[in-house]
Amino acid sequence: MALLSIENIRKEYDGIIALDRISLKVEKGSITGLIGPNGAGKSTLFHLISGVEKPDSGKIYFKGRDITSMEPHERSTLGMGRTFQTIQVWGNMTVVENIMAGMNQKLKGGMLSYGLWLPRIRRSEKGALQEAKEILDSLGLLGKWESMASQLPYGKQKLLEIGRALAMKPDLLLLDEPASGLTLNEIRHLSEKIIHIRQEGVTVFIVEHHMGMVMELADEIAVLHNGELIAEGTPEAVRRNPEVIEAYLTRRSRDPHSTLSPMEKVSQYEIKKK
Ligand code: ATP
Repeated sequence: MALLSIENIRKEYDGIIALDRISLKVEKGSITGLIGPNGAGKSTLFHLISGVEKPDSGKIYFKGRDITSMEPHERSTLGMGRTFQTIQVWGNMTVVENIMAGMNQKLKGGMLSYGLWLPRIRRSEKGALQEAKEILDSLGLLGKWESMASQLPYGKQKLLEIGRALAMKPDLLLLDEPASGLTLNEIRHLSEKIIHIRQEGVTVFIVEHHMGMVMELADEIAVLHNGELIAEGTPEAVRRNPEVIEAYLTRRSRDPHSTLSPMEKVSQYEIKKK
């Protein structure tokens, strides 16, 4: 059984069909990529999966449960974590506090109990601090645990956001354009971390414009174009798919600023799968 199963989804905004007849599966333990030119429907699909928006028709199953009409917080309780296209870390909190905020739901008590200094709460808080530090260590951020999040460079803030999502111990991690705005070195570092996250047992579903990164990381890639699923398969199969090539080339010819298609950029980028 797939961890996430999307069945015949349709979503329309004021006459614009953002997604139509989309069915796809994300297998447990995989890194699955979702790509497509601008306006293809990628963000819309992520919004539907995370529950920010609801589909007009179709079903979404997570761990075999129908989550189509569940609210985002119910989905995260079920084991779905996500990051956003624009950074959502809390700049006026320390790095470790950001992670602990992600864990907050797991801490017994709440802010009120902190004030009461109940020994039991203190113990669970101590455990949470240790756990938060382990997450930071796995992302290479432990050296900055006491820094204010706003003082971290952009690339590290993106990692911190992933850390905060991991703090909720998700089974499925949705990453929305994690490489955007990063340097090539930062992208390589991020890729290593994503591979590590998968090794730890978390299934990863990633929307990304950086084609080289997705091609290297993903086991399976789904390609959207104008709201339709035009291809699905291994990176190699998708890379050679004539419909996919056509979709990107058409896009490029419409974009006067583009000198290199994303497919061409693939060959410029090399990271090795561990
Ligand atoms: P990009 O790569 O540029 O982020 P995308 O593949 O994520 O694009 P979407 O943002 O999902 O594409 O958009 C798909 C289509 O739906 C586009 O035509 C977009 O204009 C439209 N759309 C998305 N959200 C809305 C909305 N809230 N209201 C109206 N139209 C929307």
